[in-house]
Amino acid sequence: MSTTVTEGLLIAGERGEAAEGRSFEVLNPATGTHLATVAEAGVEDVNRAVAAAVTAYQQWGALSPVTRGRTMHRFANLVEEHAEQLALLECRNVGMPISDARGQLSMIIDVIRYYAGAVDKFFGNTVPVEREGVAMTFREPIGVVGLITPWNFPLNIANWKIAPALAAGNTVVLKPASLTPLSVLRYAELAAEAGLPAGALNVVPGPGGTVGGALVAHPDVGKIGFTGSTEVGAGIARAAAATIKRVTLELGGKSACVVFEDADIEKVGALAPFAVFENCGQDCCARSRLIVQRSVKDELVERYAATTAAIRVGMPELPETQVGPMISAGQRDTVEGYIATGLAEGARIVTGGDRPGGDLESGFFLRPAVLEDVTNQMTVAREEIFGPVVSVIPFDTEEQAIAIANDTPYGLSGSLWTRDGARQLRVARAMRTGVLGVNTNSSVFVQMPFGGYKQSGVGKELGMHALEHNTELKSVFISTE
Ligand code: NAP
Repeated sequence: MSTTVTEGLLIAGERGEAAEGRSFEVLNPATGTHLATVAEAGVEDVNRAVAAAVTAYQQWGALSPVTRGRTMHRFANLVEEHAEQLALLECRNVGMPISDARGQLSMIIDVIRYYAGAVDKFFGNTVPVEREGVAMTFREPIGVVGLITPWNFPLNIANWKIAPALAAGNTVVLKPASLTPLSVLRYAELAAEAGLPAGALNVVPGPGGTVGGALVAHPDVGKIGFTGSTEVGAGIARAAAATIKRVTLELGGKSACVVFEDADIEKVGALAPFAVFENCGQDCCARSRLIVQRSVKDELVERYAATTAAIRVGMPELPETQVGPMISAGQRDTVEGYIATGLAEGARIVTGGDRPGGDLESGFFLRPAVLEDVTNQMTVAREEIFGPVVSVIPFDTEEQAIAIANDTPYGLSGSLWTRDGARQLRVARAMRTGVLGVNTNSSVFVQMPFGGYKQSGVGKELGMHALEHNTELKSVFISTE
């Protein structure tokens, strides 16, 4: 079925309709109304996009890293000039509060600049060996990199992958989440305007199984970078094995916020709710288990719930809004189902978990919920809810706190609150998680590696580590004998 397309695919630097003429609708989650019609790629479009990326690689991959870095700097400047436009697209498509969307754009620009400057500082070396000659290593691009991304922070997550991939000399075919393709389509146009070759960055929105599947199976794609659920990620790893692709996976989480009795409870109560409720809890790093020492549990729950109840849930374009809607009616139904399961298994709602109604009636809003009387065996403590729900779980000793925090198949993020310096280090080292903040919510920096332990992923993003995952390492020996 062909309808009027307002947002085309981006292949070889050109926006256009899909080969089969299909399209799909994108909604504004704050109102439940039409936002855009987007061309829906199919297998033929993926093949065209990969062919364009192969051609662009001949030019882009052959440039010196210094030259590539200059183009990436121009790209960063263009994104900065268009930051407000991109933030508004993100706000309308995801339902992300505009203040958060602006914050995301500022990180996006920093990440592009980081890799623009890093790429000529990432190189091989010479190695002493026992024969006469020179043994040396080179960092070389992989070729075409296929990227598949989720809907929760669409542009920021795509950019974490695109910026190091391009800076390292690869070309890219990106499949964004079907719910949120808009911001990255505009961003990719800016890349072409900045002087990246046509076909260096292609964007093919379309159904995960078809478009993502074709990308993962394509023999000319050398690497797949994926962010999404652990279930889909496992399938991608299996499929990618058929052509021995390099794979990095950023997957789900069930992260802990561990609070000891010597922590500044007033500060934790005021700040920690934002480590789970930001982006309406649709955050892979959401600290969705509040693991608190029994002696301070009641005081903390009271403070935490008061902060949560005061969070301003509202229309995302208003500057004062702190939490917008969920991404879809289906996602909200899923989260409400988890709350009902929690209550049936013995939990109690301290605050939230209801729909605000009124002016927000037609959007997919849900008030942040605090659940008490939870044990780590309950469904709400074991499964990733991916919505605004926190489960409070008490402990008595440090050993118990560590055991509960680690009793999950995931290991992505975490917070630890204690004033005891030795305990900070002891517990931080004992927690099986890739990223941890001590006495703070935030622990993600452009310069630091980001990635999960256990079933939360494979490989690292950000920092110089992302360049390792976007290059091959070649060994050359020149004999002088
Ligand atoms: P998802 O359902 O796994 O989808 C992620 C992406 O994969 C989407 O683009 C989706 O396309 C595509 N896809 C679906 N099935 C596929 C298949 N069979 N083959 C290839 N691609 C396929 O995840 P989501 O619901 O968008 O995002 C939420 C999940 O992402 C949560 O589990 C969250 O924890 C995780 N996440 C992790 C991180 C991290 O850094 N660790 C960051 C953010 C989110 P469609 O949109 O067309 O279905």
